[in-house]
Amino acid sequence: MNKRYTWLEEEYDSLRKQSLTREWNTVESASDRAGTWIQVEGKPLLNLSSNNYLGLAHDQRIVEAGKKAAEEWGAGGTASRLVHGNYALYNVLEQQLALWKEREGALVFANGYQANTGVIAALAGRGDAVFSDRLNHASIVDGIVLSRAEHFRYRHNDMDHLEFLLKKHHGARRKWIVTDSIFSMDGDKAPLLELVQLRDRYDAMLMVDEAHAGGVRGEEGQGLCHELGIAGQVDVLMGTFSKAFGVYGAYVCADEIIIRYLMTKARSLVYSTALPPAVIGSNLAALSLVQTESWRRKAVRQNALVFRQLLRSRGFTVDEEDTPIIPLTLGENEWTLQFSKRLRQRGIAAVAIRPPTVPEGTARIRFTVMAAHTREELEWACEQVSEIRNELHKGGTIS
Ligand code: PMP
Repeated sequence: MNKRYTWLEEEYDSLRKQSLTREWNTVESASDRAGTWIQVEGKPLLNLSSNNYLGLAHDQRIVEAGKKAAEEWGAGGTASRLVHGNYALYNVLEQQLALWKEREGALVFANGYQANTGVIAALAGRGDAVFSDRLNHASIVDGIVLSRAEHFRYRHNDMDHLEFLLKKHHGARRKWIVTDSIFSMDGDKAPLLELVQLRDRYDAMLMVDEAHAGGVRGEEGQGLCHELGIAGQVDVLMGTFSKAFGVYGAYVCADEIIIRYLMTKARSLVYSTALPPAVIGSNLAALSLVQTESWRRKAVRQNALVFRQLLRSRGFTVDEEDTPIIPLTLGENEWTLQFSKRLRQRGIAAVAIRPPTVPEGTARIRFTVMAAHTREELEWACEQVSEIRNELHKGGTIS
């Protein structure tokens, strides 16, 4: 070990002692039954940890569209879109997105992380205030830090606290409110109607991250803002292609002036190579399927309700929600790791989510259901979850 890295060794060791180091498994095969089963270390696992909610990641129409785009346009984006990397295909996708979201314009980013960091850092700056839900995704937090605006975190979904902060900092040059629409680790929803009202009352602007609602909510999968009829009132609607769409990339939809401004000012867009054409081709195909195959949306919602109900009937505390993200909060890091390990031994893939991804003391198993899971699979999984709880109780590992 190089002596110069002793400090790293020590810090890593401290993380290990708190059960906070991370490892990943290698998935050896992933395409069985729309990705509902994966193979890890030679063992088939029921996949209850994927964001591929609609099962589109393995849809051959999407795969073929990607191949076709690569054949026509090449393997790489070759440069930033501002430096001749803007192939006509990108414009087509943005036009389709703007139509789907019923907004004046759309802009595609490399991924959700870059969309959030790029957009927030471009639209907010020194002298501004950004009000952000405590449980917002890390990419929102990082975007605010990059923006150099003042960062005010309001208690999760607590509109009184947000209002208090808006009043207190009313003198800021400009005010932005930013929220996830469906929270990625909790599966609950932001009170979007109230957020729009507060935005209006305090002369602020509102950005909504629909990463986990895109494809899953709304008549044609546009997201929760559409389902609630407020999409036209949100200043910036952000979404990703990496979850229900089963592909990769992200986008924002907004008024034309915001889009034009971002094309010039969003550094993650300006200073980064355009997405590969294959990804754009696949996203176009996925967008069309998200709009037309609404049975997938119905199936995933039904599975979310069923899985939640099954867990509840076995005595687990699970929110009365209808989203496919279903956390089982266990609290302690090591217990949660043990739980996840036992799930895997019994043939289920569902990972332990620990701080700093979630607040201290709220480590959890994050289950996600997909449209293609069968009721039998979900019942079997609940049975395993229940038996593991009993095992760990007996061993005194869980109180
Ligand atoms: N926002 C939210 C709410 C997310 O859950 C994620 C992904 N975990 C992102 C943004 C980032 O998206 P991407 O994976 O495309 O970078």
